Amino acid sequence: MKLNLNDTFRRALPADPVTENYVRQVSGAAFSFVTPKKPGAPELVHVSPQMLEAVGLTEKDAKSEEFLKVFSGAMVYPETEPYAMNYAGHQFGNWAGQLGDGRAINLFEVDHNGQQWALQLKGAGRTPYSRGADGLAVLRSSVREYLCSEAMFHLGVPTTRALSLVLTGDQVLRDMFYDGHAEYEKGAIVCRVAPTFVRFGNFQIFAWRQDLENLKKLADYTITNFFPHLGEPSKDVYIEFFREVCEQTLDLMIEWERVGFVHGVMNTDNMSILGLTIDYGPYGWLENYDPNWTPNTTDAGLKRYRFGNQAPIGVWNLMQLGNALFPLIEDAAPLEEILANYQTSYLPKHIKMMSDKLGLKNEANEDLILQLEKLLFDWEMDMTLFFRRLNRFDESSPADFWTELERSTYSDNFEKFRPKWIEFLNSYAELLITEKSEKAERIEKINSVNPKYVLRNYMAQLAIDAADDRDYSLIDELFNLLLNPYDEQPESEKWFALRPDWAKTKAGCSMLSCSS
Ligand code: AMP
Ligand code: MG
Repeated sequence: MKLNLNDTFRRALPADPVTENYVRQVSGAAFSFVTPKKPGAPELVHVSPQMLEAVGLTEKDAKSEEFLKVFSGAMVYPETEPYAMNYAGHQFGNWAGQLGDGRAINLFEVDHNGQQWALQLKGAGRTPYSRGADGLAVLRSSVREYLCSEAMFHLGVPTTRALSLVLTGDQVLRDMFYDGHAEYEKGAIVCRVAPTFVRFGNFQIFAWRQDLENLKKLADYTITNFFPHLGEPSKDVYIEFFREVCEQTLDLMIEWERVGFVHGVMNTDNMSILGLTIDYGPYGWLENYDPNWTPNTTDAGLKRYRFGNQAPIGVWNLMQLGNALFPLIEDAAPLEEILANYQTSYLPKHIKMMSDKLGLKNEANEDLILQLEKLLFDWEMDMTLFFRRLNRFDESSPADFWTELERSTYSDNFEKFRPKWIEFLNSYAELLITEKSEKAERIEKINSVNPKYVLRNYMAQLAIDAADDRDYSLIDELFNLLLNPYDEQPESEKWFALRPDWAKTKAGCSMLSCSS
């Protein structure tokens, strides 16, 4: 196994001089060296062929003893020095101080075909940032992160990636419902991959500690490596950097809305500086269209991170990033202008995205979109089924679409909503006729914007239950299905269906705790 190592972060930023692994506050450093915990009996569960290739490895490498050892933490790859990053964050709106990689250990960075990748193990043991926790991860949350990050990529949504999923052979104690019933679960490790794992929180920690020198070093590192088109760092460049992070974050929020993804824990330490979906925890996919839904039981009261609140939270988080960057810029006006711009751009972008989902050439007016969103919510329409089935809509007989609607709702109250839906379908048909919508072209658009397959919450849970019994075939099936989420794949039609009744209230299928 030969990797083209190129450690940029570790070289550009200061290391914690303390190398013993005990929990502590770390100042004046961006990371701490730490060695992964040796797994008891590691076993490879799945590898992403796409990521193997991306980082410069082969299928043969993936079958080697060395691969299993390196990506389970049993062995440190030669000439590398694993480390945990130092960062802070706001959790659920409150300042939480130092957080850091409590259970992620960065192995190394590679450069392959001109692309920079950082590889890290999630669940490979304690670090100086583990606070009171064990640094481990269990199979269920690891399967969820592994499958979803690759699925998101193939949906076209910016995301961190996953290279491998291994079982450690160790048992991990978890109280899944925080109700005093802790149980042992199988320990697992995902190797996550991204150009960088730098988060808003990496900037926040230096600003909080009034460590301007390192704040500048981190900003310069990030700009030089990931925003090189902005040029030599300067005050103006920091402003442009903030502008781009805001734009990328807003685009990500719109993408989550497009596919029906709810992150669940949008704390500032879970916000990628590259606008990637990062830290898959108690996330979920909308089934019945409900902007108030969050899968995260920890957030069930206030629902801060509900589907419909993700874009506003995005700007709240960006404001915290702006505060952290302020000492480098010393002028609030341009930062405020950029944040205001996020807020005014949101609605037009949302309308454009929804118009695309409807297969329209032009943008629909806001009222029509609001009318549709209300109908989808009131009548408990399955988001994925509804939008994908629009490829069967015929503007010359709008009412015929009613049968498709009946097949796509979780409600059994058919008659109450019929008149309103017919009214909407008529307006939609009129719009298509006025804009001279060409059917074949429209169907192509609808099929390329509205996925046929997403990782529904219960699908992941079925794969987890099977994996817990050592059957990994469903992980493989779903992984492959989600490589082409916009393709028809008629042999997999069973995954293009309403959520089964049993999944409505089952843990892992409708609600999740942060315990992972
Ligand atoms: P999260 O909300 O899952 O992103 O986690 C918030 C913080 O808690 C991060 O600093 C994590 O590294 C840390 N953390 C979460 N779970 C564990 C764990 N099992 N062991 C150590 N640290 C953890
Ligand atoms: Mg996190």
